[in-house]
Amino acid sequence: MTKLLLKLVLLFVAISYGLWKLSASTEFQLFGELIHKVDTDQKLVALTFDDGPTPHYTAGVLQLLELYQVKATFFVTGAETQRYMTQAKQIVAAGHQLGNHSWSHPRMLFMSLDEINREIESTDQQIRAAGFEGDILFRPPYGKKLVLLPWYLAQTDRTSIMWDIAPETFDEETEDPQTMAAEVLEQVQPGSIVLLHLMYKNREASRAALPIIIKGLKAKGYTMVKVSDLLAAQKQATVEQ
Ligand SMILES: [Zn+2]
Repeated sequence: MTKLLLKLVLLFVAISYGLWKLSASTEFQLFGELIHKVDTDQKLVALTFDDGPTPHYTAGVLQLLELYQVKATFFVTGAETQRYMTQAKQIVAAGHQLGNHSWSHPRMLFMSLDEINREIESTDQQIRAAGFEGDILFRPPYGKKLVLLPWYLAQTDRTSIMWDIAPETFDEETEDPQTMAAEVLEQVQPGSIVLLHLMYKNREASRAALPIIIKGLKAKGYTMVKVSDLLAAQKQATVEQ
């Protein structure tokens, strides 16, 4: 009996571990479209910035993007967009893309459909209020999704945007801008999506890495575009006659 119990416990642990890994996958979700990189021959890359907007760092980021004539995609939360609407509008006015990163940045793994609906729809409303007119793409908080969230996204015809390059370590003590930039420049491929967090105080290294990344990508012949433009450059499957 105890052996059976042990086996059941091990099975439970294995399944839990499997589901946890699945929930964090950047390349697979159960329903709907998930993009972590675009299949293209063109040297295009999308810089994506999660969280915010915040009053302290938005202007600096926008100035930098303007200086290098780069377009980017900001996955914002609904709550911060409502609170810092001025900054959200500035992002849109500068020609960048806003994406939906939920209202309150919860872990959405075990949420009800009602809660998921509120998190996503209310954020879309703020993004529209900021003046953004294109398709609203979605990025799950913490990159986490399992069953109901992907199902909801599929039902409402939303594309989840993940990433293939995430140079941050989330260890502020050791994070180094040069190392982060080198990682991006080493891993970049046509169609890559880069994830950075620039909007909070503790992301000093990421903000310092951004100009190095931009200059390095340009030196390698890359153009930085909004995620929607990257999606539009997706290679069409050739139809055999
Ligand atoms: Zn986030």
